Amino acid sequence: EIILAIETSCDETAAAVIQGGNQVLSNVIASQIQSHKRFGGVVPEIASRHHTESITGILEEAMTKADVSFSDLDAVAVTEGPGLVGALLVGVNAAKAIAFSHQLPLLPVHHIAGHIQAARLEREWNYPALALVVSGGHTELVILQADGEYEVIGQTRDDAAGEAYDKVARTLGLPYPGGPQVDKLAAEGTPDVKLPIAWLEPDSYDFSFSGLKSAVINTLHNAEQRGEVIPPENVAASFQQSVIEVLTEKTKRAAEQYQVKQVVLAGGVAANQGLRQAMENMFASSSVELTIPPFPFCTDNAAMIGAAAHVQWKKNITADWDLNGVPDLTLY
Ligand code: ATP
Ligand code: MG
Ligand code: FE
Repeated sequence: EIILAIETSCDETAAAVIQGGNQVLSNVIASQIQSHKRFGGVVPEIASRHHTESITGILEEAMTKADVSFSDLDAVAVTEGPGLVGALLVGVNAAKAIAFSHQLPLLPVHHIAGHIQAARLEREWNYPALALVVSGGHTELVILQADGEYEVIGQTRDDAAGEAYDKVARTLGLPYPGGPQVDKLAAEGTPDVKLPIAWLEPDSYDFSFSGLKSAVINTLHNAEQRGEVIPPENVAASFQQSVIEVLTEKTKRAAEQYQVKQVVLAGGVAANQGLRQAMENMFASSSVELTIPPFPFCTDNAAMIGAAAHVQWKKNITADWDLNGVPDLTLY
């Protein structure tokens, strides 16, 4: 089947055409980074306006690049949530318009299911599987026993991993979005700054990153007051090491407890070089298959929404014309 997928949950206007759940016929993105940069983060109202301006052009480009016409499509898929409501609604309404006018089924997709299903673009699932989702708004360990059946076994109690990266970047005076900048800087530094790791209760798969973030801010602040300078690359390296250690250790423990055959790294922070390497090292000598999607499928994109929509398609899960954007949707 051929699915046109749309993603507008945050600051990327994206459309893709996906065949059979894993063949990317086209994958088009308009990033709004330049518009939000001077505010140091995404401004919701500006995001909605940009989506409105870009969506039609992006859709046309996705269709042209895939070399398909609307009559070739079997369904239209769209991110229903979570995300910024005004941003989501632009995609939802575009999807409805196309589905309605071409009499196609409308497939609702959960944004995080999209991040997880990006793995499908690499290879078939091998169940039971475990996904470590690390993104701008989420840090979760998710067990998959079958297609599209998600069980969240752990999640962040405060900041998401990507959020911590962005805040630490800001403290270090790095431009938005800070994650990739901290990643680059960390590669040049030595992790010699003492920072905490929040392991929480021994059997917990939950995460906490706000203490680590505060420790970075306090360390820099105290040094400044003493007139000392801590090399920023060492702060970045220490922060990154602390994040990676807790992520990889908990993933390994969950993989063992649930006897999974496959581990998937998903979400924008999966673009992190240090984390990719640490995950590869962690599972190098184990029988567990590790899947890390290529960079463009880790951060927000519509190909992953098309991959997740394939699961909805197979299960015959469609939306009605009253489909809404849901900012705090639970994973399905
Ligand atoms: P969510 O998916 O939870 O709704 P989102 O869509 O805003 O949030 P993503 O697009 O999945 O998040 O990921 C963006 C996040 O990934 C940002 O916080 C960004 O800083 C972070 N990120 C991107 N590349 C890297 C990197 N190389 N190292 C660390 N963090 C990174
Ligand atoms: Mg984004
Ligand atoms: Fe995302």
